[in-house]
Amino acid sequence: MDKQQQLNQLASQIRLCKNCPLYKGTTHAVPGEGNPNAEIMFIGEGPGYWEDQKGRPFVGQAGQLLDQMINSVGLKRSDVFIANVVKHRPSENRDPMPEEISACGAWLDKQIDIIDPKIIVTLGRFSMAKFYPGASISRVHGTARIVNLKDKKILVAFMYHPAAALRADTILQSLKTDFSKIPQMLEDFKNPKQITEDFPEKKEDNIKQLELI
Ligand code: URA
Repeated sequence: MDKQQQLNQLASQIRLCKNCPLYKGTTHAVPGEGNPNAEIMFIGEGPGYWEDQKGRPFVGQAGQLLDQMINSVGLKRSDVFIANVVKHRPSENRDPMPEEISACGAWLDKQIDIIDPKIIVTLGRFSMAKFYPGASISRVHGTARIVNLKDKKILVAFMYHPAAALRADTILQSLKTDFSKIPQMLEDFKNPKQITEDFPEKKEDNIKQLELI
């Protein structure tokens, strides 16, 4: 099976998922979508109203902003893969609960495994916490760390959630700045020698991160 077929099969399983009660009262599951060979994978929080209606990720207002951000770095939505930490909409757009995130975790892990992206961009605190537990988004946004997933090294970059950027102009400005770093991050990751030098703001963190490899 090629990657697209594997992702389709996974999406069919996600649509039937009852691993936690989140599926109750939803219209559609939102497995995620995009290029199966994407170098960049974006991970948001969970479907909102429009995503639940359409069964597709980031198709509401936050999605329009995400599309603009993706275009701003010379990419198209169809170049990347977009997924969420939870695949069914939490009612009233409440935060997903730890047990829901953990029940849904295996789906996301399988998607990452199939796509095998070079870089994962987390959008918001819940996807950040998967790769950087205990970190504060206001401190780490715009930085990246190397994470070992199943013996593969993936660069994970932390960014604010586009919905937060729609609520506060300072966050929107940060999101734009952070996105503008993506092409360089990708280059640096392909040329690992530069990684410690190129994120100097958090030099100590980087050294610790590299020790984790
Ligand atoms: N917010 C998210 O986190 N994900 C979506 O798919 C839409 C809005």
